[in-house]
Amino acid sequence: MADKIKDAKIIFVVGGPGSGKGTQCEKIVAKYGYTHLSSGDLLRAEVSSGSERGKTLQAIMQKGRARPAERLAACRDTVLDMIKDAMIAKAGVSKGFLIDGYPREVKQGEEFEKKIGKPCLLLYVDAKGETMVKRLMKRGETSGRADDNEETIKKRLDLYYKATEPVIAFYEGRGIVRKVDSELPVDDVFAQVAKAIDALH
Ligand code: ADP
Ligand code: MG
Repeated sequence: MADKIKDAKIIFVVGGPGSGKGTQCEKIVAKYGYTHLSSGDLLRAEVSSGSERGKTLQAIMQKGRARPAERLAACRDTVLDMIKDAMIAKAGVSKGFLIDGYPREVKQGEEFEKKIGKPCLLLYVDAKGETMVKRLMKRGETSGRADDNEETIKKRLDLYYKATEPVIAFYEGRGIVRKVDSELPVDDVFAQVAKAIDALH
């Protein structure tokens, strides 16, 4: 595994819910041809596939809707397995991997590195809490995502600040964090993103 993807770049894309991670990842895919893996999308896809793994996850996600911290813990191993499977499927053909919404906790990052490899960049998509709430409420009008409602959004934000800020601090220590200002319009944010990625090449 580590062998096959050793030439591919691994980028962690981290930021609060609604900060704009998915939006920026789409633009990175279009410009650089990287493979985009969103932990949330992988989970939701597994559930809608109706597989055994999906059924187990659905039960956890339903039960955990009001308890994001428990849900995070219960999904931890499965998410990493799914990311690994998806990376293996693309190993050798992908120049880079965007791991969107992961790691949520320092522990997850350590597990990832043990099983898969080291990131060369942590892209920190930063927006204010109130901005994220506004964007998610708006996204909720059309996304069909059960967790895009006001009560769950508040809990997801609390969890983000508690669990993910230490992740950023951890990778700051390694000097691989690049923060982009996601209060700006999408294209201006992407100009900052592209600068960080160009610096890797
Ligand atoms: P995440 O993947 O981090 O949860 P998304 O990329 O899905 O966030 O963005 C959440 C919502 O905010 C989407 O509806 C998206 O269109 C919008 N959005 C993302 N980035 C910006 C931005 N820079 N300015 C305004 N709206 C944005
Ligand atoms: Mg997303």
